[in-house]
Amino acid sequence: MTCAAIVLAAGAGRRADPGETGAAKQFRNLAGRSVLARALDPFLDHPEIGPVQVVLRRGTQAAYARAVAPHPRLLAPIIGGERRQDSVRIALDSLVGAAPDLVLIHDAARPFASGALISRVVEALASHRAVVPGLAVGDTLKRIAASGHVAETVPRDGLYAVQTPQGFAYREILAAHRRAAATALTFTDDAAVAEWNGLSVALVDGEARNRKLTTPEDFQLAERLFRTETRIGSGFDVHRFGPGDHVMLCGVRIPHSYGLLGHSDADVGLHALTDALLGSIASGDIGSHFPPTDPQWRGADSADFLRRARDLTAEIGGRLVNVDVTLICEAPRVSPHREAMRARLADILELDVARVAVKGTTSERLGFTGRGEGIAAQAVVTVALPAMEADDEIE
Ligand code: MG
Repeated sequence: MTCAAIVLAAGAGRRADPGETGAAKQFRNLAGRSVLARALDPFLDHPEIGPVQVVLRRGTQAAYARAVAPHPRLLAPIIGGERRQDSVRIALDSLVGAAPDLVLIHDAARPFASGALISRVVEALASHRAVVPGLAVGDTLKRIAASGHVAETVPRDGLYAVQTPQGFAYREILAAHRRAAATALTFTDDAAVAEWNGLSVALVDGEARNRKLTTPEDFQLAERLFRTETRIGSGFDVHRFGPGDHVMLCGVRIPHSYGLLGHSDADVGLHALTDALLGSIASGDIGSHFPPTDPQWRGADSADFLRRARDLTAEIGGRLVNVDVTLICEAPRVSPHREAMRARLADILELDVARVAVKGTTSERLGFTGRGEGIAAQAVVTVALPAMEADDEIE
């Protein structure tokens, strides 16, 4: 199944920017990049999405060129029509040659859709011809009379606020939009065009953070969500030599005349790195997550400890920037294994190897490492985390 995406950036959308720069909201800067570029990211990063078609308003091509970097899957932008639905129909028509099986239609003013949301919509399209993400309405709804007073409370049972991306079987939504274009009817979303054309529309879970940026307050909130701060974590570990014929260092098995003693596989490099990562997110230490008194960690693969720290970082929206490990010992020598260690750490951390450093040093025959009694390791990591505001800390 091939799946294309249409991202609508043809709106005038000046409500979010009352007279300040006059820029339509999709071209406004959001923590260093345009709203449109951020809205495109999850589609351009998603393995199941093929061509991505942006629709612009006439006269905004130069703003587009400044706002969005070229990408192999990004088609040349096209100019939309008067109304939202005209723009969608023009974009659907432009994909006739590509003839995708499926198409996702997304508003550029929603820069927070996740890859997981795109996956949910695409998966649901295996068994439905039209799919919308939505959230059950949580607030109590009131209908207000012309007088400004409450006329009634509207039961919210079964009421959902729907979002984009909305997904469709390409040929059917194309036919529906072409039919709609031959009438004077105006629809507020593509699912409404599909419904009007007799397609049954399925619902998948939307995302609370996938909000549409409309007001200046929305932009202030969005700025906060994209702003990051840099965290540094450091870790240190020591393991004593004992009988054995190999050591595990940074996930690599190295033949040696001794082994390292420890409850797990005694990988001193991975332990220091795990502690550094836990330190960067202020989430305890390796001993609190994997107590040596707990028999389940006996002989454990220390890569599992590091993966757990990696996942904890990702769960709070953190992005690992770089890691730097120093192994301190007289023997074995680190340099012959350096590239294997870097590759292994990059693999465990799902990080580019260019962001991973491993260094070896001796202690000039001084101290316990100098006497060959054990190996010490220290590690430093930097992590980009969603910025914490002063009022978050007070809460
Ligand atoms: Mg240890």
